[in-house]
Amino acid sequence: MDKIKMTTPLVEMDGDEMTRILWQWIKDILILPYVDLNTEYYDLGLNHREETKDQVTFDSAEATKKYGVAVKCATITPNAARMPEYHLSEMWKSPNGTIRAILDGTVFRTPILVKGITPYIPTWTKPITIARHAYGDVYKNTEMQVSAGGKAELVYTDKDGKETRQLIHEFTGNGIIQGLHNRDDSIAGFARACFNYALDLKQDLWFATKDTISKKYDHRFKDIFAEIFESEYKEKFAAAGIEYFYTLIDDAVARVIRSNGGYIWACKNYDGDVMSDMVSTAYGSLAMMTSVLVSPTGVYEYEAAHGTVQRHYYKHLKGEETSTNSVATIFAWSGALRKRGELDQIPELMHYADMLEKATIQTIEDGVMTGDLYLLSSLENKRKVNSREFLEEINTRLSALMQLK
Ligand code: NAP
Ligand code: MG
Repeated sequence: MDKIKMTTPLVEMDGDEMTRILWQWIKDILILPYVDLNTEYYDLGLNHREETKDQVTFDSAEATKKYGVAVKCATITPNAARMPEYHLSEMWKSPNGTIRAILDGTVFRTPILVKGITPYIPTWTKPITIARHAYGDVYKNTEMQVSAGGKAELVYTDKDGKETRQLIHEFTGNGIIQGLHNRDDSIAGFARACFNYALDLKQDLWFATKDTISKKYDHRFKDIFAEIFESEYKEKFAAAGIEYFYTLIDDAVARVIRSNGGYIWACKNYDGDVMSDMVSTAYGSLAMMTSVLVSPTGVYEYEAAHGTVQRHYYKHLKGEETSTNSVATIFAWSGALRKRGELDQIPELMHYADMLEKATIQTIEDGVMTGDLYLLSSLENKRKVNSREFLEEINTRLSALMQLK
């Protein structure tokens, strides 16, 4: 069989620890036998970030802007313990944070459903994708503890030096205050990323805030979404047969629980933080979750939602067997290759990506799985395999599916 050719390089961002091991194995076992892989390689492993003073992270993000699609392995965000372990000259920032800031993206996370692993909410038969706004609100706040007898005011000084003041509260006892902000351009970017992604997936988009209580702040989010929808997306949504639906956040929570899934739920920063943990836990595990960063200009970076699985890596280094779940990393590759295939109009590449995902799900539904899923699965004939055997089992099914064509 001829290997599938690619026309544009995919930006490949290698990473750390156990996921770096899986990265190489996925390529060797599942990709290179089928695809004449054309990537522009950036090593975001912590050693190379240190060697380049983190320049490699910036370069990889710029390359993503240039080519449009990247696939990223999980990376270490250094903390104090990593300084001596990797002989670091600086506590380098989270690569995900750096890339997100450069691409100005929104992160979309979707659970991967398989038979035998039932969500805690049994009616959720289709996935719920959470889109989290990744700028501002309480994550860029200013706060103070204050003592009795004073007053707190909100003061805005405009560019001509004119002040506008509003009383927040006159404190008769001790208390606390907090200042939040967001920017119209960031909210608009978030809205466009969500509308585009809904069109991509052909799924309804839900958005919710507390605009009845927050008549200026949350209301601004609602208005910006509504304006952009009316002027840029209304017709496209109608043509795709999908809906944009706005409601109050408490109403949204109630509807989400009663729903069957199958839509995208756009959340403000804090709501997205909290609700994505609830949704991913209810569906099973972070290793069964796809994650993609989408910029308002339509640049895509596919990744796994979990970390570098440090504990398994130390076992691996000691020569002990591991049973690490590679599904999220495989889906990062299939997502990126499919998107490359769509943009470059290579149907064979899109088909390969579909078959890779199908073979992965089939393997687990045949009862062959890693330890984390073995604990969750209700299948009777289930069998736990090690990290490498799992990939080989997937390849047995993938090669059969690829020959069917
Ligand atoms: P983690 O890598 O997500 O792993 C935490 C635990 O979750 C593991 O010890 C394992 O549990 C389980 N787990 C996670 N992924 C798994 C998988 N694919 N298969 C099987 N089990 C899995 O989080 P961490 O150990 O707290 O963080 C390690 C490093 O990852 C840190 O340096 C952090 O900065 C980084 N990180 C990177 C990203 C990213 O790049 N996207 C995201 C988060 C964290 P058991 O030990 O019980 O088996
Ligand atoms: Mg959280």
